[in-house]
Amino acid sequence: MTLAYLSIGSNIGDRLHHLVEAVRALHSHDGVEVLAVSSIYETAPVGYTDQADFLNVTIRVETVVGAQELLAICQQVEQVLGRERTIRWGPRTVDLDILLYGTDNIEAENLVVPHPRMHERAFVLIPLLEIAPLIAHPMAPGKLYSEEVAVQDSGVLLWKKVDGVEHFLRLKG
Ligand code: ATP
Ligand code: CA
Ligand code: CA
Repeated sequence: MTLAYLSIGSNIGDRLHHLVEAVRALHSHDGVEVLAVSSIYETAPVGYTDQADFLNVTIRVETVVGAQELLAICQQVEQVLGRERTIRWGPRTVDLDILLYGTDNIEAENLVVPHPRMHERAFVLIPLLEIAPLIAHPMAPGKLYSEEVAVQDSGVLLWKKVDGVEHFLRLKG
């Protein structure tokens, strides 16, 4: 069993629906159990800024599948939810990134873990700190701030408070 942390984002259409469906799809997968979901945060886009605001969550999963298979599952979920790959960092129905996979350091051509840009992204760190205050500490400068202050300073807004996985899944029938 390995604990992994994923970041999920959406900025097209019914964003909440896409987040909930992505978590549901992961959860229904044999060998992947979703243990925790952060609150939902809204963020202006970074990189390619001419696009709608994102909703983001971070989740903790327990899994028996390897990191490469977990990536394949994430990409399958993206495809089922209708992601089209066009502009890098551009709009997407749903984006699933592997932030951490146990304590592994992975540098494959198609998979780098810990996610190389997670440290500079408040929309990743803030929800991650909410569900993993200790695990994030060694690499997250955001830990120096209280979550509330970090949220105020970063342009990452609390969009909906989430109280557990079941609550999250009930947000969209
Ligand atoms: P960013 O990685 O900066 O958040 P992005 O999510 O927009 O950018 P994508 O187009 O979704 O980028 O993914 C590009 C490629 O990144 C994927 O094909 C995948 O193989 C690779 N990749 C490398 N490391 C990871 C990771 N930790 N999680 C998910 N994908 C990864
Ligand atoms: Ca991403
Ligand atoms: Ca991605």
